[in-house]
Amino acid sequence: MVAKRASQKKLPQACRKCHKVLDADKTVCPECQGTALTTEWFGYLVILDCKHSDVAKKMNIEYNGRYALKVR
Ligand SMILES: [Zn+2]
Repeated sequence: MVAKRASQKKLPQACRKCHKVLDADKTVCPECQGTALTTEWFGYLVILDCKHSDVAKKMNIEYNGRYALKVR
């Protein structure tokens, strides 16, 4: 029997290079192929329309998706 419960260790990760938020089981960022991932990130940002988003422009985000505002 498999117990289904949320593990506290499975935090989502963020890419240090492009700030993309990734699932806990990822080891490589699909966006920039970077492997510098960290669970120490703050602020959640969802970019739905990067072409017309001022925030996306400021952070140099070129793709839609989930991003961390700050990465340690
Ligand atoms: Zn990345």
